[in-house]
Amino acid sequence: MSRMLGNRFRIYPNTFQISAALQILGSCRYVYNLYLNAWSTCIKYTGKSLSYLECCRSMSDLMKVLPWLRNIEVSALQSSLRSLERAFRFAPNHPPAYHKRGHNDSYTCKNTNFCIRKLDKNHILLPQLGKVRVRGLRDVKGKILSAAVTYESTGKWFCSFLYQADDAVRFFKTGKTVGIDLGIHDFLILSDGTKIPNPRILSTLEKKLRKAQRSLSRKRSANISHFITVNASQVPVFKRPFRECRNYQKQKRRVARIYEKIRNCRRDFEHKLSIELIKSHDVLCMEDLNVKSMLGKDRNLSKQISDVSWSEFNGMLEYKAKWYGRRILRVSRYYPSSQICHVCGRQNPALKDLTIREWECPVCHTIHDRDINAAMCIKKEALRRNTMLLS
Ligand SMILES: [Zn+2]
Repeated sequence: MSRMLGNRFRIYPNTFQISAALQILGSCRYVYNLYLNAWSTCIKYTGKSLSYLECCRSMSDLMKVLPWLRNIEVSALQSSLRSLERAFRFAPNHPPAYHKRGHNDSYTCKNTNFCIRKLDKNHILLPQLGKVRVRGLRDVKGKILSAAVTYESTGKWFCSFLYQADDAVRFFKTGKTVGIDLGIHDFLILSDGTKIPNPRILSTLEKKLRKAQRSLSRKRSANISHFITVNASQVPVFKRPFRECRNYQKQKRRVARIYEKIRNCRRDFEHKLSIELIKSHDVLCMEDLNVKSMLGKDRNLSKQISDVSWSEFNGMLEYKAKWYGRRILRVSRYYPSSQICHVCGRQNPALKDLTIREWECPVCHTIHDRDINAAMCIKKEALRRNTMLLS
């Protein structure tokens, strides 16, 4: 058995390398969009799907007609066909969106004949780009399978290596089980009574982001010359194309940088917390994914950010549990964990009101903290279901 590991680090391509990388990005996008069009046309008229192999074969014919395509790293083009196939397999009746410049600019190269490798602490070798300067490259023991090069909207370039590495050393048994509940004010609540708040820096950054976005939208509306009516809706006509609006572009980059910072802070927090939880417990009991996030009506910024963190955090727990030999037990999303008293099991429907933070059980008169009680119920229910499945 082996596991996949990723390592993402920043790269500093020079001017020539940047233009070469942009060329690969553009070609991958071109190929993706071309075959996306072919694929959906084929479905439309014949009802049948294309396949990755058919597209690959057709691409080698295409290269005879388009000589510039021959200079592009072929595994990058193939991997964009792979991702197209994945998108169609995921939703066969809904073709994916066309790729646009500036949205997820990324390409992936396969490591064939050691064309991708680490040269020294600060340099790597990439296909077509050659020797690229890097920072933050880790020493991972394992075979490099592929490298993905990304151009972020912040103007930074990144590369991530995918490794095939040996199994992780498993953690010692601790004999502990914990119930985990997603909080509204806190990030997580554990059944042992610990409340883990959101990192404080996030709310500061959110404020900053809101301000920067307001400024961006002011710059956008400053570019509107007038409105025209199309299909009974008002569509703005702009004075200049946005790529010429330098202040708009500058502000856009500023917004992207704040987003990046939020993302980094959040991920750092999630990684540290998830490994800590996995390390100190054998069994983790949790609710199914996306329970409360779908119930929430207000789609404000901090809500969106916390939703993303929760699902990301879930993914981290899943794979880390696998790596280190821990178990995750799930409770149905319809289990009313926050309404049940964990001592006597009585359900109290009055607790649908989310503003009640503390309550007294009408039967056994225990005073509960809403969130801690919910975490305890999740633990109890998950263990009960688990023993039922075993017996
Ligand atoms: Zn009770």
